[in-house]
Amino acid sequence: MRTQALDAGLVAQTQFAMAPFRLHRPTTIEDALAIVSEHPDAVIAAGCSDLVAQIREGRGLETLVSLQKVDALRAISHEAGVLHIGPMVTHHAGATNELVGTVIPNLAAAWASIATVRIRYTATAGGNVMARRYRYEMPLLLGALDADLVFDAGAASRPVASLWADTGSAQRGLLTDITIRTDDLVWFGYERSMRPTATVALAVRRNPDGTLRVRAHAGSEYRHGFALTADTGAGELDPLEVSTQLARQLPDECADYTGSAEYRRHLVRVLSRRLLTAACAQLKGTTTR
Ligand SMILES: Cc1cc2nc3c(=O)[nH]c(=O)nc-3n(C[C@H](O)[C@H](O)[C@H](O)COP(=O)(O)OP(=O)(O)OC[C@H]3O[C@@H](n4cnc5c(N)ncnc54)[C@H](O)[C@@H]3O)c2cc1C
Repeated sequence: MRTQALDAGLVAQTQFAMAPFRLHRPTTIEDALAIVSEHPDAVIAAGCSDLVAQIREGRGLETLVSLQKVDALRAISHEAGVLHIGPMVTHHAGATNELVGTVIPNLAAAWASIATVRIRYTATAGGNVMARRYRYEMPLLLGALDADLVFDAGAASRPVASLWADTGSAQRGLLTDITIRTDDLVWFGYERSMRPTATVALAVRRNPDGTLRVRAHAGSEYRHGFALTADTGAGELDPLEVSTQLARQLPDECADYTGSAEYRRHLVRVLSRRLLTAACAQLKGTTTR
């Protein structure tokens, strides 16, 4: 129970009335940025699949900036070894985009596994990341891919993993681009068969000296994702050894009421090994075994 927004008494959580708010519907990134700068407390709306839940949870708003008409934020391009994904790209559009499917095929496949059909047509990549919910999966996929979040049309940029370092609900600016380096990326994959207890996204990149480095993000519904890394050195990419190395890095704080740290390390080791085995099979001939 909570107090109704217009002070009309106590009502059930799903029935409280919203106070009036001002709605802005810009059509360009410049106009959206101007509105956000004029109204620093403005709430940004993408597909609203999470925002509606936030409002039910008690989030108030006076100014809402809908990005639905900003077509430039739906663009996907691949330039100079960098994949750019507009934050307004929906799960459906991203998963079925030819460029994404060509440049990082398993990202398209992983993206296709997120959420339900109805949600996939409205929910966006940017909203998934900016909602900062542990149970959402884009931060894991993008975290393993070392993606950068570009805010305010390039005024600021930060790695996805840094989202968890933020505290409170401070406005983080307008997310205008998501970038992923592809020039040294040799493989990417995602394992969600143990979701919600444990999920692992894993990317293999080639160092300038020819050795491989592995970056994984291990998540669960109840804790933020943890970044895990391993370098292969001069040797071959050994799934058993590298998965053990990755799992060992999971800190004790990964434990929650559904599983001990030891159990999670076990799951991450199994899921990582599965991914690395698939990576090796696909890379056979071009890399190692
Ligand atoms: C039934 C259901 C099933 C789901 N299943 C899954 C699942 O299996 N896996 C999964 O990962 N997710 C799942 N989700 C979550 C869903 O993917 C997210 O709700 C969605 O991606 C959020 O995107 P949106 O466009 O709706 O964001 P919104 O709800 O519009 O916004 C979410 C937050 O991001 C902020 N925001 C949005 N865009 C920007 C921007 N450009 N700049 C700055 N801030 C911004 C908003 O202010 C808000 O705080 C599910 C959701 C539902 C309802």
